[in-house]
Amino acid sequence: MQTKILLDEEEMPKRWYNIQADLPTPMDPPLHPATGKPAVPDDLRHIFPMELIRQEMSTERYIDIPGEVRDILTLWRPSPLYRARRLEAALKTPAKIYYKWEGVSPPGSHKPNTAIPQAYYNREEGIERLATETGAGQWGSSLAFATSLFDMECTVYMVRSSYEQKPYRKSMMQVYGAECIPSPSEKTRSGKAVLDKDPNTPGSLGIAISEAVEDAAAHENTNYALGSVLNHVCLHQTIIGQEAQQQLAAVDAYPDVVIGCVGGGTNFAGLSFPFAGAKITGKHPETDIIAVEPSACPTLTKGLYAYDFGDVAGLTPLMRMFTLGHDFVPPAIHAGGLRYHGASPLVSRLVQDGIVRPVAYRQNEVFEAAVMFARTEGIVVAPEAAHAVKAAVDEALRCRETGDAKTILFNNSGHGNFDFSSYEAYFAGKLVDYEYPAELIKESLARLPVTG
Ligand SMILES: *Cc1c(COP(=O)(O)O)cnc(C)c1O
Repeated sequence: MQTKILLDEEEMPKRWYNIQADLPTPMDPPLHPATGKPAVPDDLRHIFPMELIRQEMSTERYIDIPGEVRDILTLWRPSPLYRARRLEAALKTPAKIYYKWEGVSPPGSHKPNTAIPQAYYNREEGIERLATETGAGQWGSSLAFATSLFDMECTVYMVRSSYEQKPYRKSMMQVYGAECIPSPSEKTRSGKAVLDKDPNTPGSLGIAISEAVEDAAAHENTNYALGSVLNHVCLHQTIIGQEAQQQLAAVDAYPDVVIGCVGGGTNFAGLSFPFAGAKITGKHPETDIIAVEPSACPTLTKGLYAYDFGDVAGLTPLMRMFTLGHDFVPPAIHAGGLRYHGASPLVSRLVQDGIVRPVAYRQNEVFEAAVMFARTEGIVVAPEAAHAVKAAVDEALRCRETGDAKTILFNNSGHGNFDFSSYEAYFAGKLVDYEYPAELIKESLARLPVTG
């Protein structure tokens, strides 16, 4: 009986897997926000290093992980793969449930997998400071961790609702030497514009991105770093799925179902893209790949597949993706990392092409699954990761009905050790099960930029 499947450090993948190489048709190009013409590398040079722009557009199947980056990743990687035997027993399911545990990184989530290479490439190109946004605080603390290892400065615009719910994430950024500012702030023009309209706004990722991009564009020594959504971020996360493939192979298993939660889509991409590649190329065409989102911010299940901005102010290139409209401000649910109006263009494409199946859940049922997971497997998961737990539980219960002994794999993207105020709200019966605000979505979709 094997509960925990570990790899040696030397077995950590040496290359990232780029799913763009295996797409049946190329991705639609990002468009310049002002001209609406396809964006060229030079359009992005004022905020990103050349190597990340190259990776963003690359169609090479594999991209080497630099030695210095691999060295740092071994601080916590390869991450363990667990078989959730006690959860299986509690559910009385014939299914086998495996999960990849990304909460072992120092900041506690999958995000350092991309924070480290992003800081590395920026430092290689002479950048001294990175500006970024953060939702739940996971990305901010991950980039703060990464920049501290490379002796760089870091400025984090943190969505105000999370800043107030999770003061200790801010403290963690401070320990790593970063500056953390609640967003919207008075520091930027885009922040001021939002505050003028609504001084009590809970903020949103879209607003915080505008502030960080504006900050980076205004300072020569500063670049912008994004913890989710973009192709190169998905790319860096594929180390998760490649490790999982090796770990499952070690016990002669292959998943029938692969599950991840989706905010911008990168932990989901990281686990699922190697399996999606095998699905597209016909090696494993039957794999059911499930993207889980909150019903309060139902980008993949209720949004439109269209060109939209990545931020509220319209400073980022237009990307073709599932979107609820760039000025959609989702309700302040406790899975702050899943409050984003858009989704990764790569994940969106796979949903559009029927390779990935999206589902949405409400807060209370998600926390119920998270509590069951804690009481069987011991780990208190992040509210974001709890969405993946809930989908895995549902799939396992379906197996109980059908008698099917499926192998289910989900990404446990992070721990919830900074999220106890959310658990407290759940136990106190204070979590609101937002139905998606249909009228709001319709209104913001009507304001989508016109392209083509
Ligand atoms: C940020 C975060 C997410 C959501 O971001 P993705 O890019 O969709 O992965 C999910 N889980 C955890 C633990 C996070 O910190």
